[in-house]
Amino acid sequence: MEKVILKQLSFEAFDVFVKDLGWPKYRAQQVRDWIYQKRISRIDEMTNLSKSDRALLESRAVLGEIEPGLRQQSADGTQKFLFRLSDGQEIESVLIPEEDRNTLCISTQVGCTLDCTFCLTGTMGLVRNLKAHEIVDQVLWVQRDMESEVKQDLPERTTGRASLLTNVVLMGMGEPLANYREVTEALRRLTHPKMVGLAPRRITLSTSGLVPQIKKFGESGLNVNLAVSLNATTNAVRDRIMPVINRQFPLETLLRACRNYPLPPRRRIFFEYVLLKGVNDSEEDARRLLRLVKGIPCKVNLIPFNDYPGAPFSRPGEETVLRFQKILIEGGLTAFIRKSRGRDILAACGQLRTATEDRPTLIESVRS
Ligand code: SAH
Ligand code: SF4
Repeated sequence: MEKVILKQLSFEAFDVFVKDLGWPKYRAQQVRDWIYQKRISRIDEMTNLSKSDRALLESRAVLGEIEPGLRQQSADGTQKFLFRLSDGQEIESVLIPEEDRNTLCISTQVGCTLDCTFCLTGTMGLVRNLKAHEIVDQVLWVQRDMESEVKQDLPERTTGRASLLTNVVLMGMGEPLANYREVTEALRRLTHPKMVGLAPRRITLSTSGLVPQIKKFGESGLNVNLAVSLNATTNAVRDRIMPVINRQFPLETLLRACRNYPLPPRRRIFFEYVLLKGVNDSEEDARRLLRLVKGIPCKVNLIPFNDYPGAPFSRPGEETVLRFQKILIEGGLTAFIRKSRGRDILAACGQLRTATEDRPTLIESVRS
């Protein structure tokens, strides 16, 4: 009989599996706790199950973990984790420690179909969607790793930084809403109080603008934050830098979906805006941006373009970036500039690229 992969089971499927084993119902939560709360790596570690129960479980199931690979640490504390999936594909996650929070940027696809012209992940094409457990496991694995560092009392964790994972952003490789079913199932597990149990307001999903899925996502009841990669203020420019998505869902359609998005009380949409020198960074762009988002409760995150060899764009100078931000702020918007982080280890939220090719990547610190 083929073994059941425990991490692939939804909350409800867990109950069914435990019932099929002939175990009492409460056992399902015991096993879920070992996986999602205590984050064990072997069934044998489930010590509140008798030896014979553990043996039965081992004969019928495996945990089904993603495999950690190369791991790099930047001088600024940013860490990049490479994970190998059961079919040999590779993904990356990036941990960004800050004074008051630790944010993990996770991947939702291997590659991406959307081909935005400024993004390295796009150049990979889509290799495949991740399964829910492959998305959740990035979080479990990094949480376990951070805990072991706390236990060992490593110096970098004793300098007043938050020691545990506080925030998760779906901004790594891939377009999360193009993998809707598995991503929403992963979010259910990440926010379920009896599974990973992260607060929904600590999680942010970033989309390039898949309008029908944005609508569905708003009605899903998941209540995690939504970030929308706007990146341009005219269709002409957006067609050029995000050709696949903008031809399907042009700016006015996207902004209408944002305007109608059912935000929970006191929440705002985050608009991401990658600043590309001479393309979308003019004062006129800033003023147009103000007009476009008028009336939408939102914050804007400005991301100065991260350059890479052969990139068809470049990063505007600091003055241009600050001027752009100033116009937004004077127009009444909340606007942050994202700091670049971890350049020395070549990690990037949104432009990670795996496979054997030696591709440079950079990282952004994520403020929400
Ligand atoms: N597919 C989703 C999420 C991953 S991309 C999306 O597009 O929103 C995450 C963010 O990284 C997006 O806002 C994207 O615009 C940005 N990004 C991609 N390439 C970049 C680059 N070279 N420099 C700066 N930001 C980039
Ligand atoms: Fe895909 Fe987002 Fe990169 Fe566009 S910016 S290619 S949607 S990962």
